[in-house]
Amino acid sequence: METTPQMRLTTQRQIILEELAKVTSHPTANEVYDMVRKRLPRIGLGTVYRNLELMSDTGMILKLEVGGTQKRFDATVAPHYHIRCLSCGKVDDIDIPMMTDINSIAAEKSQYQILGHHIEFTGLCSDCSATEEEASVN
Ligand SMILES: [Zn+2]
Ligand SMILES: [Zn+2]
Repeated sequence: METTPQMRLTTQRQIILEELAKVTSHPTANEVYDMVRKRLPRIGLGTVYRNLELMSDTGMILKLEVGGTQKRFDATVAPHYHIRCLSCGKVDDIDIPMMTDINSIAAEKSQYQILGHHIEFTGLCSDCSATEEEASVN
């Protein structure tokens, strides 16, 4: 059976979504590319990148609003907060309730209709704070 470009695209997106859902590391486009390439050896970085952008535009995945130089992606689309290590740059989920109150506070203080907010916690992960302690002992 002949595969149409449309079908190919759908399969690619499905595999990207499956690979992204396997990890909780909030990978960059390059890291997603490395994971997807094991199953689709001929896929290009540009294709992975375009698919990630399209999937986040349509709400299939989340494009993270966190600091750092590279965009990161998340298969967990339900609203949740993130914490980023300032030393190694890793991003984890942080399990605290969404603060819906700050939307109404922001609405009171601005002329905007508030649609949402992003909070990024920053700190040192356990690996990095252990390394810092070692360094201060020596
Ligand atoms: Zn770290
Ligand atoms: Zn997340």
